[in-house]
Amino acid sequence: MKAADFIYHRAHSIDEALRLLVDYDGTARILAGGQSLVPMLNMRLLRPAALIDINGLEELSRIEVRGSETVLGGLVRHVTVETSSLVAERLPLLARMIRHVADRQVRNRGTIGGSLVQADPTGEMPLGCLVLGARVRVISNGKAREIPMQDFYEGSYAAAIAPDEILVEIIFPRHPIHHAFRELNRRHNDFAVLSIAIVGDRDEEGRWSNVRIGLGGVHDTPIIVEEAGAHLDGSLLDDSDIAAAAEAAGRAISPPSDMRASEEYRRHLVSVHVPRLLREFRTSASPSSLN
Ligand SMILES: Cc1cc2nc3c(=O)[nH]c(=O)nc-3n(C[C@H](O)[C@H](O)[C@H](O)COP(=O)(O)OP(=O)(O)OC[C@H]3O[C@@H](n4cnc5c(N)ncnc54)[C@H](O)[C@@H]3O)c2cc1C
Repeated sequence: MKAADFIYHRAHSIDEALRLLVDYDGTARILAGGQSLVPMLNMRLLRPAALIDINGLEELSRIEVRGSETVLGGLVRHVTVETSSLVAERLPLLARMIRHVADRQVRNRGTIGGSLVQADPTGEMPLGCLVLGARVRVISNGKAREIPMQDFYEGSYAAAIAPDEILVEIIFPRHPIHHAFRELNRRHNDFAVLSIAIVGDRDEEGRWSNVRIGLGGVHDTPIIVEEAGAHLDGSLLDDSDIAAAAEAAGRAISPPSDMRASEEYRRHLVSVHVPRLLREFRTSASPSSLN
């Protein structure tokens, strides 16, 4: 099947792209890497009047350090997240997670902004950005706003971005010292059945703070298990803390049943792998393992 007719515009500036979005009054779409949009066009799940190609906009491809924050442009490609030494140093969780996104061909074209707006509940980048406490900056003609990742999703494939807005930046606060990630899927680099991302800081006495546990694939959006994080802050992450966090994770999820896995199986995976990853997280952060 081929896409329905559309008009193609190659934007030469962000202002031009924004003007075109206004001209089309909600009937145009931004084209970034095209890895999700083009299949949807070809299946005629979408029939936009126009595509506005932002691939030439260098200013959206930058990676910058602003004080304690790290900023990725909306058009930064997955392959750049994978290979950038700055990302490896400042956002190691993201650098680890990106290797689980699709295959090399998709990573060469796909972008972080496209992944966030696509809002796939199993997507690695939405989960990584959520766990790291990022916020996105979106602009429209004459207006700009920042949205915490926590508020960016309204449901499955439903990002809180208006048709006349462009996601221009993802802004990350300081990355906690420790992180862990695990993904379970049917085949290597397939969409996740369950993904778990954990970050946190540990003091010299072994007490934890800023612990955030995020889960993907078990709700209509990626989620943070708030109750577990609150419980683990100040704890030593001993086995009883881990058991309580895993129980909280079980209560926070609402997994779908789909062609990849049943709800029951996903619940089982959460009960097994959240405590397992938390134990690995504790071990990898212990001073003896850092020597
Ligand atoms: C075979 C295959 C396997 C894949 N596996 C995975 C996987 O395992 N994990 C995963 O997370 N993803 C996976 N993907 C999706 C991939 O990561 C896509 O790159 C990503 O979802 C979309 O990014 P894109 O740059 O290609 O966006 P596009 O396809 O160009 O756009 C996607 C949507 O976002 C909008 N958009 C894009 N950029 C902006 C912007 N800056 N501002 C406003 N709107 C914007 C578009 O209008 C469109 O609605 C896979 C894709 C394929 C084809």
